[in-house]
Parts: sequence; C-alpha cells; structure tokens
Amino acid sequence: MTSIEIPFNKPYLTGRETQYIIEAVNSGKLSGNGLFTQKCQRFLENRYGFRKALLTTSCTDALEMAAMLANIQPGDEVIVPSYTFVSTALPFIRQGATVVFADSSASQPHLDVRLLESLITPRTKAIVPVHYAGIACDMDKLMRLAEKYNLLVIEDAAQAIESFYKGRALGSIGHLATFSFHETKNIIAGEGGLLAINDERFLHRSEIIWEKGTNRSEFFRGEVNKYGWVDVGSSFLPSEVISAFLYAQLENLEQIQNRRMDLWSYYYEALRPLAEKGHFQLPLIPDYASNNAHMLYLVCNSLDDRNQLIATLKEQGILAVFHYLSLHKSDYYNEKHDGRTLLHADRYSNCLVRLPLFYELTYQAIDQIVNVLYTLYAYPRHAKAIYYNH
Ligand SMILES: *Cc1c(COP(=O)(O)O)cnc(C)c1O
Repeated sequence: MTSIEIPFNKPYLTGRETQYIIEAVNSGKLSGNGLFTQKCQRFLENRYGFRKALLTTSCTDALEMAAMLANIQPGDEVIVPSYTFVSTALPFIRQGATVVFADSSASQPHLDVRLLESLITPRTKAIVPVHYAGIACDMDKLMRLAEKYNLLVIEDAAQAIESFYKGRALGSIGHLATFSFHETKNIIAGEGGLLAINDERFLHRSEIIWEKGTNRSEFFRGEVNKYGWVDVGSSFLPSEVISAFLYAQLENLEQIQNRRMDLWSYYYEALRPLAEKGHFQLPLIPDYASNNAHMLYLVCNSLDDRNQLIATLKEQGILAVFHYLSLHKSDYYNEKHDGRTLLHADRYSNCLVRLPLFYELTYQAIDQIVNVLYTLYAYPRHAKAIYYNH
C-alpha cells in the first residue's frame, strides 16, 4: 500500500458558497448586516436559542465586543484558563483588566471549576470558560458561582458549535458567548465569528458596539429617523461576501457534523486499545457534555513521548500538531502573572497532540494514521473489518 500525505486540516466547501457569494455581489449590497448576515443570525438564534446573534469578523472580535459590553475596566479581574488560545485573554487585557489564569483539571484541558472560588476576589468581574474541543465545561457549577459572586460568564465557544450541556446548546447558557468560523473550525467562513447575547441587559447596546458606536441598526429598522454616535464600539460586522459563504455552510451543518462524528468515532474506537494500555489518554466526555467532533486529541505521557509521536507521524507524511503554550508563561504575560504554578495547564502544553480531522479525511487515511501509532507503541492491531464504502 502506498501511503499518501495527510494534512492536518483541509477547509471543506459544501457546494453553494460561491453561488451565494455571486448572489450577494449581484444584490448590490456588499457591506454588513444585509440579507445573508440576517439569514445566518436567524438560523443560529432559532437553532440554539440565543436571545440575539450578531455575526462578527472573528471570534476574537466577538470577545472584544463582550469585553466592552461587560464594561471591563482597569483594576478589574477576569478569570481565564491558561490553556487556551491568546484571544480568550487578549480582549480583557485591551480593556485594562488583570487576567487571572486558572489551571486545567487533571482529567481535562478545561479550567478546573473546583479551583475557581479560590481565584475570586472583590475585583473579579467575569469568568471566561473555554469549551475545549467543543466539550462543555461544567456550566451548572460555574453559573452557580457566578450568581453567588455577581459575575458575568462569557463562554468562549469558539470550538463548540452544535455541542450541548445537559441538552442546552453551548453559547446559550452564559450571559454572553462567542463562536469562531475560522477555517480550522467545524463550520467556516475563512475568518468569521459570532457574538451570542443571552442576557437582555446587553441586547440594545450590543448592536451599537457592533455598528461603530452608532444607533444605525435602529435607523435601519425605522425606529429612529436619524442615526449618530451614541457610545463606544468598532466595526465588527463581516461583509455580505463572508456571510454568504457562511450561510452555505450553515445549510449543510448536519451533513458536516454527521461526517465529522463518524470519523471521530472511528478514530476513537481504533485508538482505544492503545489508550487502555496506557500509551496516552483519549478525550474525556463527561455525562453532562456532548461531543461535536471538533478535535481528536491525545494526551501523551511526556513531552518526549509527544515529540516522538509527532516526528514519527511526520516521517510518514502525516501532519499532527500541538497547541497552546500556557498563557501565564507567554512572553507577553509571564512578568504580569501572579506566580502560581499551573501544573495541569503546563502538562497539556507539553503533552497534548491533535491528529488530522477534517470533512474529507478518509477511513483509509485514519487507518494509516492509527497504524503508525500501533507500530510506534509496538502493539499488534487487531483491526475489525472496515467498511470503506462510506
Ligand atoms: C479559534 C479560537 C479562537 C479565535 O477565533 P478567531 O475566529 O480566529 O478569532 C478563540 N478561542 C478559542 C478557544 C479558539 O479555539
């Protein structure tokens, strides 16, 4: 069998993206908040029960909107996991806040909810849980703490589209939530994002911040007869070209998700015997959480193990990657950090590896990847009959 090169990711086009872009171009309205933007927003509100959905040019932008809406100020503290992408913390830093980094838990890269209470001070304003790999944080515990201390919860649901906590859509539970449609996520627009607003206190102001600090959205709806500068804000709207692309993806959301789930399960079953032998850990999905097949990650037993695994896969033309250097140790923040050691965040930084997972990945390719792991760990693979006709 000849082996093929396997990339880490490949953006998938469902077919109608360019058609809808042409429709947007022909409509003569290319700027933001047009027909495709509104179609996407209605779709997401209806499917997930958000009070309001506003498309943005990225999840980073949506988090910036959230930080402005939360009125984060110098002197405020915001609790963020250390094991996450820069964008989870950056918007709060830009507002002048101190970010207090939380450790991951022993069993999951997610922030350890049991440690949260010890990080809350009178200055704490918000908690930003990350639903890592699209797997929910323990939201009941988190929301209870937020209520007790009067804190805002901003869900970083960048990876968490079509994933649920006890049957409730992620992004519909916190006061605010953000999603990403970056090309590495399940549903894509190249670059793109979403702010979900669930707390009615933020409904009005969110539109103003979205529209450069003006009340233009009200003007468009005929609610006021002129519009002007009324608040802070920025230009957070994507153009209709991006929204048109995104709408084609959303129309095929179930097809995309079904395929990813099949691939994820196939991988998981194939790798389980190696995990049971202790060569690495597979993702844990608690009873309260669902899986959206955003990511297939392994946690190796050491940094050396992970380096060897990535190098061995690379020799076979397979691109596996690691991510997230703990933010509390970053060049930018390490001087500002309060000095606590965050053992588990560091462990995931050193030991976690992501295997290729994308819509057009084949079962044969997964077999090729899995076989490299069986060979590396010198463990015979008793492969079940594989049905390649999917
Ligand atoms: C991808 C990602 C982001 C950033 O999303 P962009 O749309 O690229 O700005 C933020 N947080 C997490 C957890 C992510 O995975």
